[in-house]
Amino acid sequence: MITFPNGTTVPALGQGTWNMGDSAGARESEIEALRTGIDLGLTVIDTAEMYGNGRSEELVGEAIAARRDEVFLVSKVLPSNASATGTIEACHASLRRLGTDRLDLYLLHWRGRHPLDETVAAFERLVAEGSIRAWGVSNLDPDDLDELPAGCQTDQVLYNLTRRGPEFDLLPRAASDGMPVMAYSPVEQGRLIDTPALAQISREVGATPTQVALAWTMRSGNVLAIPKASTAEHVRENAAAAGIRLADDVLERLDRAFPPPTRPVPLEMI
Ligand code: NAP
Repeated sequence: MITFPNGTTVPALGQGTWNMGDSAGARESEIEALRTGIDLGLTVIDTAEMYGNGRSEELVGEAIAARRDEVFLVSKVLPSNASATGTIEACHASLRRLGTDRLDLYLLHWRGRHPLDETVAAFERLVAEGSIRAWGVSNLDPDDLDELPAGCQTDQVLYNLTRRGPEFDLLPRAASDGMPVMAYSPVEQGRLIDTPALAQISREVGATPTQVALAWTMRSGNVLAIPKASTAEHVRENAAAAGIRLADDVLERLDRAFPPPTRPVPLEMI
């Protein structure tokens, strides 16, 4: 479990949805995957107005219809929409596509031309009217975070075994602020799974590479991983990662295969 600054506690393993809803042929499997994830406790569902121009949100809405209260729902506003009025309109459009009256967390997808203060003021209006429970950001580096008014619940960033830059400054800073980080692309969009070093270590641990990669991402207790999986089989495999604790010697071997940063690394994005 991880706890946000406002005291809300959620499971440290959730579900991503980028590219979901794009293919009519995959729709049934994707909905089954999301529902299987909820059944298994992966109740944080991450989407965005950007994903498939709203198609991901529509798919999520269908998957969670009748189960809204079981889910911690996260969506994101595009930077181009993140003005004082644009943020409000974008949120209402997301809510319509999702078939719900509130988001649990609403994020600025990345920093754009609209001042952060303006976006946050709009987020606070959305909190006041009940459309969102809380707000946060994505793809913001520590300098950007310094500019934020109080109230940010998370920074969602690219973080996995092959993208360890946030460990140098962002993760320690978030931990000292009592703010969890959401790790996106925790299996590097699938590319990590076939890495020979990870495959070897995983065989010895008795888990799959995906499970080791996810358990590693969540190891600090302050990171929420949101892998995307479009089949129930993949979701079941991923859900089992929540119960895996990697021993110190395994973590050391992973450090040798995927070295931690020794200096600041500009935040990477996918
Ligand atoms: P990811 O979760 O690292 O990887 C997804 C890929 O891994 C898919 O091809 C999936 O295949 C595969 N996969 C997952 N579980 C698997 C398993 N057990 N066995 C084999 N393959 C498996 O990449 P991502 O989708 O880029 O990132 C996750 C989520 O983070 C996104 O969906 C999105 O919600 C969020 N995100 C946010 C940002 C941002 O800017 N804030 C950017 C990128 C992503 P199948 O689909 O076939 O299961």
